[in-house]
This record gives sequence, structure tokens and C-alpha cells, in this order.
Amino acid sequence: MKKITIAIDGHSSCGKSTMAKDLASAIGYIYIDSGAMYRCCTLFAMRNGLIAADGTIDEAEFERRMPEIQVSFKINSQTGRPDTYLNGACVEQEIRSMEVSAHVSPVAALPFVRAAMTAQQQAMGREGGIVMDGRDIGTAVFPDAEMKVFVTASDEIRAQRRYDELMAKGQEADFNEVLANLRERDRIDSTREVAPLRKADDALVLDNSHMTIPEQNQWLLDRFHEKISD
Ligand code: C5P
Repeated sequence: MKKITIAIDGHSSCGKSTMAKDLASAIGYIYIDSGAMYRCCTLFAMRNGLIAADGTIDEAEFERRMPEIQVSFKINSQTGRPDTYLNGACVEQEIRSMEVSAHVSPVAALPFVRAAMTAQQQAMGREGGIVMDGRDIGTAVFPDAEMKVFVTASDEIRAQRRYDELMAKGQEADFNEVLANLRERDRIDSTREVAPLRKADDALVLDNSHMTIPEQNQWLLDRFHEKISD
């Protein structure tokens, strides 16, 4: 059976990655977390002094150094989930920090960063059989994807989920800071000039505010089976 391309976009912290990962493993597809790629670019910029304390980005130097950024994913044998690697080193923990979250949206709005990541994402998905989650997958990366889903949930519920996730990992977090961060990321992501966050015209909408993880997984699996039987 032909393997299709599945694009899952939506607001920050609405559980896209969890559902995309679970769907990919249930149907034997490859899962790619495109947000992790923008987080790697941000971590690289932070480590190399390309983002000043006031948040100003040295765009000229960043653009010059973009070719040094190689992002890859490898399955972690303990968790069974893919870990993110920046230039060969596992950065799965670092890229989820509040510090990276605070800088990632301005970095992801830079046209040269988007051009490089979009090209890598398109190369990863050339053969189909992929579930990719992000902000612009159904609109810019794979506008011809056979299945597109746009996910959202209320701000407070999304903040609570991200807060719980950080706590579970033993990372420092303040609920109001998490809430402010996700609202600010949504604002920047939705208003940037290149590939802003928006629902693709042909995307199915899922508001998972009041759904459990098994319920949302089942919803997605049902939509997948409908698509492939079309
Ligand atoms: O999905 P996640 O929250 O990890 O993404 C981090 C950030 O990366 C988003 O807030 C957004 O600024 C950016 N991003 C993007 N396009 C994507 C995926 C993520 O601009 N396809």
C-alpha cells in the first residue's frame, strides 16, 4: 500500500508531538519533530554567542554559520522515542529548556533559518511514509500532504501540559512564565512573514482540550484509516 504524508500543525504545547509520535509508531511511519529542528538552531545560536542578553540576534553571522548546523534523530532504545542530535551530540534535554523556548520563535522567523530547515524536512519526507509535526508543515513544507490536521486547545490547558512535562523532567518552571511563553510564541509564529502558523484550507481541525491521550490517538487513527481507504 502506498505510504502517505501526514502533516500535523497547530499551536504551541497542544500535544502535537505526542499524537504524531504515537500515530507514526502505530502505523509504522517515520516521525519527524520539526520544532526540534528550530530548537537546535536556537541552541546553536545561544551556544555560539549569536543571541545577545537582550534577545538581539546577530543575523549576518548566524546566516554565515547556518551550514554548520546538522540536525538528526535517533531512536532512544530505552524510551523507544527519537532523540534529537545537533552535530552528532544528543541535545534532547537542552532543546526543551525554557531558555531555548524563550528564543526559538524569533529564530524560527528568520527567512534563512526557515529555508534551511524546510529543505531538510522536504528531503526527509521525499519518500512519503512520514508523520511530521510543526507550524507550517501542511501549508509550506508539504502543501500536497494527503492528510493534514490542525490541533489546538485552550491556552491554560496547554500551559498546564507543558508545565507538567517540565516538572516531570525535573526542570525548573513557573506556570505563569510557561503560559506567557506559549502565548508569545503563538503570536510570533502567527504573525511572521515567512510561513506563518495558520490552518491549511484542507486540514481537519482537532481541539483536544478535553480529550485524553488515548482518545486523541484513536481520533487520529480513525482519520488515517478513512484517508487511506478514500
Ligand atoms: O513544536 P515546538 O513547540 O517544539 O516548536 C518550537 C518553535 O519552533 C515554535 O514555537 C515555532 O516558533 C518554531 N517552529 C516553526 N515551524 C515549525 C515547527 C516549529 O516555526 N514547523
